[in-house]
Amino acid sequence: MTNKSLQDIKAIAFDADDTLWINETYFSETEKKFCGLLEDYASHHTIAQELLKTEIDNLALYGYGVKGYTLSMIEVALQMTSGSIDLNIIQKIIGYGKDLLNMPVELIDGVEELLQQLNSRYRLVVATKGDLLDQEQKLKKSGLEKYFHHIEIMSDKKEQDYQKLIRHLDINPEEFMMIGNSLRSDILPVLNIGGHAIHVPFHTTWAHEHIDHKIEHANFKSISKIGEVASLLEM
Ligand SMILES: [Mg+2]
Repeated sequence: MTNKSLQDIKAIAFDADDTLWINETYFSETEKKFCGLLEDYASHHTIAQELLKTEIDNLALYGYGVKGYTLSMIEVALQMTSGSIDLNIIQKIIGYGKDLLNMPVELIDGVEELLQQLNSRYRLVVATKGDLLDQEQKLKKSGLEKYFHHIEIMSDKKEQDYQKLIRHLDINPEEFMMIGNSLRSDILPVLNIGGHAIHVPFHTTWAHEHIDHKIEHANFKSISKIGEVASLLEM
């Protein structure tokens, strides 16, 4: 990342889950409880694999987010028990889904300070996948809404989805920077269309987002804490 090219940046977009606030941790905890519910039928490992497969198969129909995840848990429970499921299990799964939707929002360290710093110099955007209502509510609960110029809740994060966002912001790709924890969703598509991208890994990544890939690119940087963005931009 050259300082010269960074001077062109006008808008900075942030992924939300596991970039602004903690998310995957809650899903992992729920997955453990779900596997526990069905442990008479299969090993935790088998159930977790089946759940991941079902979630991915259902993405095209349900999109990303808690509601689709809950339906996938119910589907796996029906399969694993060959339909002889105890209704209490379904009741519990629905409860897990509601608990996920009601989780408090826990900000990642350094996020609010960074947004305060960047806010006067850049247009800040949230670019996230997930349920519309759920993400809107998390943003409200986070107290971060006031820092953002625009909120984009995307059904997917492919190149064409970022192109649409960049057009909406009325800027060129080289004036756009994306910050996020997923190489697959937040980084690669943005680099591919000529934008800048900063990777801030979270300690847990959903298996579907995981890629084994070393990125070498002039517009790319990986940092360990989100607060480091300020010094990268020489703030
Ligand atoms: Mg994320």
